[in-house]
Amino acid sequence: MMPTRALPDVAVVGGGIVGTAAAAFLAAEGARVTLYEREGLAAGASGRNSGVVQRPFDPGLVELFEETVALYRRLEAEEVGFRLPTEPAGLLLLSRQAPLIQRLAASLGAAFPELAPEVVEGGALRALEPGLAADLTACRVPIGYPVPPAGATYAYATLAERLGVRLRLGREAAPAVEGGRTVGVRVDSRLEPAGVVLIAAGPWTAALVDPTGRWQPIRPLWGVVVETLLASPPRHVLEEAEMDEALGTGDVVAAAGIEHEDPATTPSFSLVPAADVSAVGSTFLDTEPDLAVWQIRILERASRFVPGVAEAPIRGVRACARPASVDGLPLLGPLPGTDGLFVAAGHGPWGISTGPGSARLVVDAILGRPRTIPPDLAAARFGPAPG
Ligand SMILES: Cc1cc2nc3c(=O)[nH]c(=O)nc-3n(C[C@H](O)[C@H](O)[C@H](O)COP(=O)(O)OP(=O)(O)OC[C@H]3O[C@@H](n4cnc5c(N)ncnc54)[C@H](O)[C@@H]3O)c2cc1C
Repeated sequence: MMPTRALPDVAVVGGGIVGTAAAAFLAAEGARVTLYEREGLAAGASGRNSGVVQRPFDPGLVELFEETVALYRRLEAEEVGFRLPTEPAGLLLLSRQAPLIQRLAASLGAAFPELAPEVVEGGALRALEPGLAADLTACRVPIGYPVPPAGATYAYATLAERLGVRLRLGREAAPAVEGGRTVGVRVDSRLEPAGVVLIAAGPWTAALVDPTGRWQPIRPLWGVVVETLLASPPRHVLEEAEMDEALGTGDVVAAAGIEHEDPATTPSFSLVPAADVSAVGSTFLDTEPDLAVWQIRILERASRFVPGVAEAPIRGVRACARPASVDGLPLLGPLPGTDGLFVAAGHGPWGISTGPGSARLVVDAILGRPRTIPPDLAAARFGPAPG
């Protein structure tokens, strides 16, 4: 009989989509796992996002997205309260500049022929989405599954607990390293031993890896979402075509000669319809926003695209930080220079759409599976933490 390889005890730091998915995958393979979350499950962006599982246009993220959708289908089968819609709702990229939409559709069609983006305007657009302002043109792409923002995180946490993961909520943890090797985590100044520590702490990851602050490949990028109760919500996910930061369509927008308004003062429009709540955004801010100020700006911008937003009751407004990496791709896998220290973070605006795929890759690396983390996604591309 083959000797069984001993599995390490793993401490996962962070109870967002990435940490909870990783904890569940590790426990399913028989590892002993403790998950530490300093606030509550989904307390960060994983509970406060816009709620769409969407195919990224960055080719470097597409495989992670496809694996994530397959993992979500398996999560559904576990009956832990999560459901991904059978079909995507469709994404409408909107602009008042019809030539921009023509170019965007041509460019997306050339890069991703399988998506077959189409231009929709005039009466056809009104019939498709009667709530839109009259002078808009749209590029329709058949992507985007609306989901409850925290749904997948709670479901993975439920599954993890069922598989024996110890959830330590309200516990702040930091990796403990001795002689270049991870020995566990420090919680309330006490060492809790573990052979492997996986840091999945979103925008707070860099500070945990290197408390000296010199290793900084991930920074917080703040977003505000206003939850509106539209009487007749759209069926599609809506996004302003000029909003290239999250979409990765900047080249087309620049080639069309579109001047950007300053994101520090002007939001871009996005709307994700869920059952009865339409999540309206979007901001990309370097510092924590003043909610009252940004609520007004977001609603003003949104009402130029969906006039009904101006009259819709507001259910709430929330802000949170995206874990934005300097090159727009996540950091996955072992950190050079410290045995047993792994990272899964830096998903920026795509964590709900790609996080479980990333978690799966990192878990395979922790378990020593012969599966390579692509160099573009490897945490090691930023070198060892100098601290
Ligand atoms: C406004 C907005 C809208 C978005 N919309 C979408 C969308 O529609 N689709 C999409 O795919 N993505 C979206 N995103 C991005 C997505 O939400 C994030 O990429 C994702 O949630 C990041 O998940 P995470 O698990 O890496 O980090 P987080 O969700 O930030 O989780 C990290 C957790 O670690 C905990 N933590 C930190 N430090 C410690 C410590 N020392 N000890 C213990 N716990 C600690 C935190 O409390 C937090 O709960 C959006 C983001 C924003 C801000």
